[in-house]
Amino acid sequence: MSASLIGVVGAGTMGQGIAQVLAQSGFDVALYDVSSDQLTRAQAAIDKGLSRLVDKGRLAAEARASALSRLDTTTSLESLKDCEIVLEAAPEQPALKEKLFHDLSRLSPTIILASNTSSLSLTQLAAVCERPERVVGMHFFNPVPVLKLVEVIRAEQTSEATVARIEALAEAMGKTAVAIADSPGFAVNRLLVPMINEAAFLVQEGAASVEDIDTSMKLGAAHPMGPLALADLIGLDVCLAIMEVLADGFGDPKYRPCPLLKRMVAAGHLGRKSGRGFHAYG
Ligand code: NAD
Repeated sequence: MSASLIGVVGAGTMGQGIAQVLAQSGFDVALYDVSSDQLTRAQAAIDKGLSRLVDKGRLAAEARASALSRLDTTTSLESLKDCEIVLEAAPEQPALKEKLFHDLSRLSPTIILASNTSSLSLTQLAAVCERPERVVGMHFFNPVPVLKLVEVIRAEQTSEATVARIEALAEAMGKTAVAIADSPGFAVNRLLVPMINEAAFLVQEGAASVEDIDTSMKLGAAHPMGPLALADLIGLDVCLAIMEVLADGFGDPKYRPCPLLKRMVAAGHLGRKSGRGFHAYG
């Protein structure tokens, strides 16, 4: 894939990681956010991420410097008009994303728009755009520089050419792409989060201890961490929100969120970020 200008919208957790990997992979990057303070923080975080790779001997010092030189920041959406592809990683709010997609699609007739949404319908996002065949999902996993998977989500309107371009971009970023239709939870969250929900049911029923449930899946299924430790890492609020998306999207009772999970979220026991979830953190 020839090096071209890629826009990244939203300089938070995901936008920072995506921009870093793009710059490291030789792309010129325009990182957009509504907050200039956030852009300053993002630049510092990317610099730190690249420096850490240099310290570990995984990146040459010159490669770090050239990656940083390929990264520009902006608070003007208009300045993304020369981008070939824009990857959107703004907050998970339907109205906010729809406005962004509508505005971005008017910037240029050739721009490809890819959303990193975890739960929203790509088909609905494409519907507000000038050229819906150029809209697609590109779902990265956190932390982006570490996790290799990208789910490429095909909206009803997405063209084959758009899917092929995004798959090529994923490959150029050193990622492995899997293609999936636009359905709630896509593949990974639909498989992973119901397992976490079921583990919460086991705790609620008193069937096994938190430690034994995690040990079961580590030693019996070769998972690198148990489902309850993983829930604490993801955030119980995020897990609950994904179960609600699955329950609403499919209308199938098998996706009902575990009442214990709901109570823990209501109590503010959100996992690592609040210091307490299924496990306690110091
Ligand atoms: P975040 O809150 O860390 O970052 C969002 C950024 O968007 C912030 O910097 C904010 O200033 C900026 N922003 C707010 N309004 C904006 C606007 N109108 N235009 C442009 N930028 C705007 O969020 P995040 O965790 O990086 O998530 C971003 C997206 O990625 C969401 O759709 C989320 O569902 C998805 N996602 C998140 C994860 C994760 O683990 N965090 C994993 C996969 C996908």
